[in-house]
Amino acid sequence: MRRLIVVAALAAVTIGVAYAQAAETVDTVVAARSLQPGELIVFTSTVSAKPSRVEVTLFGRRTTAFPLPDGRWRALVGIDLDQKPGPYTALVEAALPSGVVHSSTPFVVTAKTFATRTLTVSPDFVNPPASQQQRIERDRAFLKEIFAASADHRLWNRSFLSPVPDPANSAFGTRSIFNGERRNPHAGADFRSPLGRPVKAPNGGKIVAARELFYTGNVVIIDHGLGMFSMLAHLSRIDVKEGDEVKAGDVIGLVGGTGRVTGPPLHWALTVMGARVDPVSALAVLGEAPAK
Ligand SMILES: [Zn+2]
Repeated sequence: MRRLIVVAALAAVTIGVAYAQAAETVDTVVAARSLQPGELIVFTSTVSAKPSRVEVTLFGRRTTAFPLPDGRWRALVGIDLDQKPGPYTALVEAALPSGVVHSSTPFVVTAKTFATRTLTVSPDFVNPPASQQQRIERDRAFLKEIFAASADHRLWNRSFLSPVPDPANSAFGTRSIFNGERRNPHAGADFRSPLGRPVKAPNGGKIVAARELFYTGNVVIIDHGLGMFSMLAHLSRIDVKEGDEVKAGDVIGLVGGTGRVTGPPLHWALTVMGARVDPVSALAVLGEAPAK
């Protein structure tokens, strides 16, 4: 799990937007488990002068980088599980007093085939009864509002950790056919935990949801800042309140089996600026031996 690979290390050229004499540079190193749908990519940039802001634009999304203690800047970008394979270019921009310097990093997203699984659940979770529609709509609006408003700075400061000591299955990205009907792909990792196991915050952040929703059952959502969120679903008990701040390792509830459970009972989903990524890829690149 600690085999972090550096997939590209491109020294980049500098362009001072306003000043032709600019000789500032941005060098960016890209690290990931692989460049495939569902993976988290870590961009680490060295800028020759002190920037006020660094941003990475990729897949049509602009991500704000955060400074590391050693002066480098880091941005986390997710390859959504439905991202089309093919060539892409990441643009790194650093705002300097002399203008904006930028560098381009080309790379190729390679295809990944996700399994299809056939599941049988209570029919009410496949085609919910009319009596539940209003509630499902309300849940959807609530989630949309939450994911649209992440903190403008990083709320975590240590390695990511697994919420439970139990192994995850490999169901991330699986195309599910529920009772014969195709539904959204499975956008999280399921952990084979016994019921009642304490669930820990994978990293620091602010609790933006701690309530029961139709599909997820009792759910806790943590805003890690800069567009990154963890969702921990199907809990039997919630031990935090909306608005609380948590640190990595704080217990946020217990493994349950509430809501539409389709596998092992703990579901951890991670989104980064809306991209659905495998949380296990985050543990690989930002776990106990974080990207250098
Ligand atoms: Zn799941």
